[in-house]
Amino acid sequence: MTSTLPGSLFTEQAPSSPAGLSFGLSDEQRLIVQTVREYSQAEVASRSAAYDRSGEYPREQLRGLAELGLLGATVPEEWGGAGLDSVTYALCLEEIAAADASVAVIVSVQNGLPEQMILRYGTDAQREKYLRPLAGGQHLGAFCLTESGAGSDAASLQLKAARDGAGWVLDGSKAWITSGNQADTYLVMARTGGPGARGVSAFIVERGTPGLSFGRPEEKLGLHAAHTTTVSFEALRLPAGNLLGREGEGLSIALACLDAGRIGIAMQAIGIARAAFEHAARYALEREQFGRPIAENQGVSFKIADMAARIEGARLVALKAAWLKDMGRPYSREASIAKLLASDAAVEVTREAIQVFGGNGYSRDYPVERLYRDAKITEIYEGTSEIQRLVISRSVFAELKG
Ligand SMILES: Cc1cc2nc3c(=O)[nH]c(=O)nc-3n(C[C@H](O)[C@H](O)[C@H](O)COP(=O)(O)OP(=O)(O)OC[C@H]3O[C@@H](n4cnc5c(N)ncnc54)[C@H](O)[C@@H]3O)c2cc1C
Repeated sequence: MTSTLPGSLFTEQAPSSPAGLSFGLSDEQRLIVQTVREYSQAEVASRSAAYDRSGEYPREQLRGLAELGLLGATVPEEWGGAGLDSVTYALCLEEIAAADASVAVIVSVQNGLPEQMILRYGTDAQREKYLRPLAGGQHLGAFCLTESGAGSDAASLQLKAARDGAGWVLDGSKAWITSGNQADTYLVMARTGGPGARGVSAFIVERGTPGLSFGRPEEKLGLHAAHTTTVSFEALRLPAGNLLGREGEGLSIALACLDAGRIGIAMQAIGIARAAFEHAARYALEREQFGRPIAENQGVSFKIADMAARIEGARLVALKAAWLKDMGRPYSREASIAKLLASDAAVEVTREAIQVFGGNGYSRDYPVERLYRDAKITEIYEGTSEIQRLVISRSVFAELKG
């Protein structure tokens, strides 16, 4: 599957744009996205069904993507990253997700959360020690915000960080951490002060620090290759230099980076939906019933049309959010709208793709049942769809109230 069906304006060459609005890409951007597409289809998509079954963590695929610069995609070259703009990176993520959603979430977390947190809020010493190996893909990162009692209400988190001379001691545990058992660098939000958001600070914890442990991978509906575990901290001592940003800034740092993370999850959802759509469209042309391809029934062809429309709409909003980020403009509302629309599209498109495949769609011999299972999580992590609606409506009302 190396070609994209109609529905991606973004693979066309940039036209001149008298109206001041261009949907095209530069030659360099097209080349990068094409290279990632070819690698993803050849090396990632070909193994996704096997990894879904075995639940093996996709180390080899990540190594290949690291060689392409994708594990530090938007980190500037001076810190060992590829220095890509957010639009190009978003399109690369779509390509990876179209091949394997598990690989895509690991890449999205690495780029969007630990790396952005250290890049934007770290000291040069922290960037040198922790960001450089993350950006080069020698190290993997984990983002540790959620706890068993604190999910959507992240400001209620309980993991405690107490002062210990000049340093800190962490006690408590995190839940549902992507790559929790695989990471080298953990970005941990912990309570250093009173209740609420202002009592939270962010810390960097290295793998191998005494007191750090993790649980077994959770048994999940989908994303089997992207391990998700608890991470525990027991009397874990940290030097003062492992505080990220200032004391009390931890939640605002995490939430600021989640805005960028949400564009990544939107692109993951779009990649999943696109893969299901492409499989369904091809199957509709090949499968014959009543003496003709099922695509010749309007009941089937309209499903394909709705899939194309949903994917294209979600992609436009997600790329607008990425473009705003590149322009240095606010993009929080657009990132939430993108995640809301794209995750909704992913669930709906994969569900309808199974319908187009009929009984075969329900079988593990065909890819759409895996895509359906993988799609659902995009409505939950990095803020559920309900939380995205909260973010969007608050922003609308704030604007109206001036
Ligand atoms: C596979 C996977 C990977 C993950 N990876 C990470 C990770 O790497 N790092 C990390 O920190 N976390 C991670 N998470 C956690 C994820 O971000 C949380 O599951 C998510 O934020 C929701 O929190 P919760 O599960 O506690 O649900 P809850 O907050 O308990 O929500 C339950 C339901 O109530 C709704 N709800 C809650 N509050 C409101 C409200 N105010 N208004 C309307 N509806 C509301 C929710 O939308 C949801 O439908 C991961 C989760 C999964 C499943």
